[in-house]
Amino acid sequence: MRIVFSLIALWLAAALALTAGAGRCAETQDVEHRVSQLLSQMTLEEKIGQTAQRNLGAVLASPGDVAPELLNPLREGAIGSFLNAGDVRTKNILQRIAVEQSRLGIPLIYGRDVIHGYRTVFPIPVGGASSWNTALIERAARIAAIEASASGIHWTFAPMLDITRDPRWGRVAETCGEDPYLTSILGAAKVRGFQGRSLADPTTIAACGKHYVGYGAAEGGRDYNTTIIPERQLREIYLAPFHAAVEAGAATLMSAFNEINDVPASGNAFTLTRVLRGEWGFDGFVVSDWNSIAEMIAHGYCADEKEAAFKGFTAGVDMEMVSTTYENHLMAMIRDGTLDESVLDEAVRRILRIKFRLGLFDSPYRDESRVDILLHPDHLAVAEELAMQSAVLLENRNNTLPLSRGLESVAVIGPLADSPVDQMGTWTMDGRIEDVRTPLAAIKAYLGPSVDVLYAPGLEKSRSMDRSGFAAAVDAARRADAVLLFLGEEQILSGEAKCRAFLDLPGAQEALIESVAETGKPVIAVILAGRPLTFESIKDKVGAILYAWHPGTMGGPALAKLIFGEESPSGRLPISFPRTVGQIPVYYAHKNTGRPPSERNLGIPTGTPLDPRDFTSNYLDVDFTPAYVFGYGLSYAEFEYSDLTLSSNEIAADGVLKVSAKITNRSDVAADEVAQLYVRDLVASVTRPVAELKGFSRLRLEPGEIRTVSFDLRAQDLAFLGMDMQPVIEPGLFHIRIGPNSREGVRGEFRVR
Ligand code: BGC
Repeated sequence: MRIVFSLIALWLAAALALTAGAGRCAETQDVEHRVSQLLSQMTLEEKIGQTAQRNLGAVLASPGDVAPELLNPLREGAIGSFLNAGDVRTKNILQRIAVEQSRLGIPLIYGRDVIHGYRTVFPIPVGGASSWNTALIERAARIAAIEASASGIHWTFAPMLDITRDPRWGRVAETCGEDPYLTSILGAAKVRGFQGRSLADPTTIAACGKHYVGYGAAEGGRDYNTTIIPERQLREIYLAPFHAAVEAGAATLMSAFNEINDVPASGNAFTLTRVLRGEWGFDGFVVSDWNSIAEMIAHGYCADEKEAAFKGFTAGVDMEMVSTTYENHLMAMIRDGTLDESVLDEAVRRILRIKFRLGLFDSPYRDESRVDILLHPDHLAVAEELAMQSAVLLENRNNTLPLSRGLESVAVIGPLADSPVDQMGTWTMDGRIEDVRTPLAAIKAYLGPSVDVLYAPGLEKSRSMDRSGFAAAVDAARRADAVLLFLGEEQILSGEAKCRAFLDLPGAQEALIESVAETGKPVIAVILAGRPLTFESIKDKVGAILYAWHPGTMGGPALAKLIFGEESPSGRLPISFPRTVGQIPVYYAHKNTGRPPSERNLGIPTGTPLDPRDFTSNYLDVDFTPAYVFGYGLSYAEFEYSDLTLSSNEIAADGVLKVSAKITNRSDVAADEVAQLYVRDLVASVTRPVAELKGFSRLRLEPGEIRTVSFDLRAQDLAFLGMDMQPVIEPGLFHIRIGPNSREGVRGEFRVR
């Protein structure tokens, strides 16, 4: 009987899957049909109009407020998209003109930078990535989509998928860090979160993977700068997260500002057409970055706007953001035969396809009452959870943290203790300071009236040099049982064009730490910053360092819970922290070199001619190891890894290896651990990194609990690009490790047959 039921269930499941598949197929055919129909009716002017995206900051109260400079192009179908464009009402006003007053009624698509939340601000992306929590990151993106779509937005310029190994670069704040695997997994989760199950659902928004490609490799960490990336690295490191996003269904990509190997990314036919369309089969559209088509003139790649339009367009950038080279020149080029109209048709087809998939032709206007959903308590709860899971405990000498709730007084000091705008971080155009719960307010609320919270900022801003507030800060520290120092970087020190040559705590913050530490009170530094900072010289002056990044709206309550031990810190670094700027780039997946440094090179040995210890790839004035390795983070619990088990010590080129390890919580604190799987291919036809992340899993362990964490490692996951740039899985020996970070763990080995 049971067998019969199972068979029926199987048959039903298969039938349902077939119907769903057939439904999707019919939907696709329908969209393609409607696109072709529309395209066949469009004039050249209307087609070019679809490729134009304008920026509009204004908020309009009524249709009468639309200036003729805007009204006429909208009626003529000369604008395909806006970025920004006011509130939901303004968006509906403009949409009505496009849909009801233009000849073909093609709706506008509204884009905006919804980067880490909308009104509810989540931690900055590099902070969110520190959670290594794929499901939570997907949920946060979903919430951002719900809030943004309620404001009439159809399309976000996110996720950012750039890999960077340079914390000087201000946009490190927007990345998921240094690793292509972690960025691929988290980037795809964001795509799923933004786009939901169907783009036609009015609470979803189209994603835009950016900045395609190589932007994070900017020379010297200077934004917009040149990149030289050999093809294997380009594909394995920089392109990989974009491929994952395309596979996850990302509707659009954005071409980057930088040049790659002497050709600007916004005019790069190799990446935009050969790889993206040819190899990956991407059928969405590509938008340029802000003015990046026109900037190809400054790059020295195009003589004038006309050439920029030609090179950008034929390389595969379908829509031009802000600059107007397409509007100004495509027409003449088609008329004089320089450009074939079929190239334009293809670009317009891609743009219309996404507009159809978004359901804009069927329901172009957005419900203006949905804005009630902003800051919904469920959204704030997720923001708090993500902020909590993003904070990384870097130091905790003698268990300085957590603090007891039973203390009588606590001093709250530092320029970031009560600074809502700084706490939100970069790209928070829609976050409002009045919504932000700062650490100071949250700690007061958390401890209640029985504990004295003595607040003295010490410094006005992170960059302040004026020490006149130190005396009050030291006085507060003297009177308190413990000191919480909220330090770091202001909002405007990270983000686009916000690069730094020095990575230490700016202003007089180090001096503030020293003055406060002299009181002898337990001092905890909570650092709120947009990038990895260097603080080697003050590390020993404080008992604990909790790295909170810019944690967003709910940063305060999240930090209070961590500081007072309601929850254990569980964030892990998605990027290595250098000891000093001169070490950059420092990253875990480096090559071994012919002269790798070893433990005996630590402590700055100089060696002697007879014992030439320093003829290795290291520095004379700083240890070669980073301050904190990729994947690192402490916990209030204590986890022990043991018993690495492999399902076999050999794997066939099409096989799967099951690898597991035991994790024991040797403490009386329940906490989350992030178990990480690394492999190393020892010998190959092209050299491979000393470690590569291949899996991770966040799991909760109760006090004393033992859990087994398992991963399926497919031989395919061990493939790399050979000399001919084709993926190969070569036979040979591999090292494998499951552990708490990129350096430690239980080790084993296996062979690929
Ligand atoms: C940034 C993009 C952003 C765009 C639109 C550019 O300056 O590089 O990341 O999406 O502006 O605001």
